[in-house]
Amino acid sequence: MESSSSFSPSSSSSPPLIPNPNPNLDQQPRLTITQLEQLKVEQKVAEIYRLLNGVSAHARSLMSELWRDKHVEFLTRGLKQLGPSYHVLDANRPWLCYWILHSIALLGEPLDTELENDVVDFLSHCEDEDGGYGGGPGQLPHLATTYAAVNTLVTLGSENALSSINRDNLYKFLLRMKDSSGAFRMHDAGEIDVRACYTAISVASILNILDYELVKDVGNYILRCQTYEGGIAGEPGSEAHGGYTFCGLATMILINEADRLDLSSLLDWVAFRQGIECGFQGRTNKLVDGCYSFWQGGVLALMQRLLPIVDKQLTSSSVSGESSLGSTCNSKSSDLSGQGSEWYIFETGKLSDVGFSFIKRHAESPPLFHTIALQQYILLCSQVLEGGFKDKPGKYRDFYHSCYCLSGLSVSQYSWSKDAGASPLPTAVLGPYSNLLEPVHPLYNVVLDKYYISHEFFSRS
Ligand SMILES: [Zn+2]
Repeated sequence: MESSSSFSPSSSSSPPLIPNPNPNLDQQPRLTITQLEQLKVEQKVAEIYRLLNGVSAHARSLMSELWRDKHVEFLTRGLKQLGPSYHVLDANRPWLCYWILHSIALLGEPLDTELENDVVDFLSHCEDEDGGYGGGPGQLPHLATTYAAVNTLVTLGSENALSSINRDNLYKFLLRMKDSSGAFRMHDAGEIDVRACYTAISVASILNILDYELVKDVGNYILRCQTYEGGIAGEPGSEAHGGYTFCGLATMILINEADRLDLSSLLDWVAFRQGIECGFQGRTNKLVDGCYSFWQGGVLALMQRLLPIVDKQLTSSSVSGESSLGSTCNSKSSDLSGQGSEWYIFETGKLSDVGFSFIKRHAESPPLFHTIALQQYILLCSQVLEGGFKDKPGKYRDFYHSCYCLSGLSVSQYSWSKDAGASPLPTAVLGPYSNLLEPVHPLYNVVLDKYYISHEFFSRS
């Protein structure tokens, strides 16, 4: 990373980082496979950035352009027809809807009504009669595809889309997935993990059906998943991981228990996941990957609104000489009475309003990562000029990486905005200002305007 002065958005005119261009692979003794792969990635990225540095400012701006039309073409085509290689995702069809439609929404492109109605109709065939959505018509309801289906319908945002969700049955499905430990399982007799907790809580929150019965003890489970490194693992005893850290932190915020986590060590862990390639890695000593632009970048966007809690934790631990977390945990674990608590529930005391209150808070600090560097990685190393995004140079594009690269790009473009969704200065956007995407609500990863529409819709009942 560069010095703190490079966090100024004015650094957008000069590309920030160039990895070592000459690692001399043949002369490296006894390297592991991952180390060799890392050096190869650094070489490829360095070639791209050297090229960028060697051209005029005008050409640099062109090289950093977001190829909107190509992306819309690639995405829209995928919505209508997929190639045979996609058969492996037959149990993930609501995910394909979400990845594609969320990407199109981020690009600010409208969808024609016929296509929108087709998607609503398709998802209603995936909805189980006892609640929840399966991976396709007739498939077992599953929390991951339920999250994808609900986020898709919120992204569509029409009365038809939002009213198609049977919230009473969905609530029953969520209760059925709740384990006696407080955590959730992905499907009947399925695995319990942090992803299940997040998808259940996120869906309940956005649909305004989150209550203390669903929340009870889920925070205790997430706490057991925070590791010695500071990040959050998929389940207790596993390794800290970017996707699970996003899921765990977002869950703790949505249930109003974020202050129970050791937030300063979590912040430390995530901040150091942005590497010399300018993008994020998912775990310590792993390769950079475009999808972590959102999983890790999203965590840092959330942390911008949690800094008062970090300060409080650090102050109380320096006063007492020990971690504040034990006492915080004890006091909060008995605070599930429905009374709400100090940070987000200001007016109604309703758990479902935490997501709304959270996004209305000011970001308390400048970005906690190098936002221009991340945009550089996404646009230069992940973007495919024929449309779509990929993990890293040398890989192929896909809809999953397109969704999370665009989501991460949006988060990094708006990270200098104190108020959610406020237009950023041109210096905060790498490349031409036309690269600016729609802002997202980082707790749910849906476009902010769509979130507001659904919040209003589901608050009525
Ligand atoms: Zn990835």
